[in-house]
Amino acid sequence: MNGIEKLNIEKNNNQTLIKILIDKNYEKELQDNKEEVILKITEKKNEPPDKQLKPLKDKKIIIDPGHGGTSFGAVGQTGVREKDLNLQTSLIIEKLLTNLGAKAILTRIKDENVTLAQRVNVANNNKGDLFISVHYNGYSDPQANGTETYWSSQGTKGSEKLAALLQTQLLEKLQRRNRGVKQANFYVLRETKMPAALIEPLFITNPVEEQIIIKEENMVKVAEGVVDAILKFYS
Ligand SMILES: [Zn+2]
Repeated sequence: MNGIEKLNIEKNNNQTLIKILIDKNYEKELQDNKEEVILKITEKKNEPPDKQLKPLKDKKIIIDPGHGGTSFGAVGQTGVREKDLNLQTSLIIEKLLTNLGAKAILTRIKDENVTLAQRVNVANNNKGDLFISVHYNGYSDPQANGTETYWSSQGTKGSEKLAALLQTQLLEKLQRRNRGVKQANFYVLRETKMPAALIEPLFITNPVEEQIIIKEENMVKVAEGVVDAILKFYS
């Protein structure tokens, strides 16, 4: 097992002791979930302290994968569900942000119901620096297509700038039709206490765009566009 030098299970009269000797090149994190205890052993990275390599160091970015659980969001003709794409894309964004030194906090990490109030609470309680809600679009007319991004004028200052940067970077990565930056009074954009925007990179209900987004490489493009926008926000 990587990172474990020695594992010992000892039994006394009424006690069981589990002793784990951890390799000095690894770091540990203990998680206590009532009945289950998880010990995470991760290889230490030898990173140069150069801030150029970690341009988002100390930034807390809240990523909000839209829908989940019984809320499917838009559904494509091949059965692709928005809630799944939102989460997959968010997990890629999380990975990219972590590589740049940011702390990414997701409002859900699995397929579950999360209320709008809970999403906002995650953002505000963690004192996030930015909030980005990840969605894909849907419409009754399958012809509808293109990229759009939302912000709320009743939200926090900086939201319009964030939405504009997201829209520009998503267009550059995806090369789809520009539907523009739009203003909407969405709850998560209004109630969050940090610059907030909601992306709709493509229409799942459009057969052409559905075929684009089911390819993981294109989901990576969306994630890269989001991260480029965050970098530009702080540059
Ligand atoms: Zn949605």
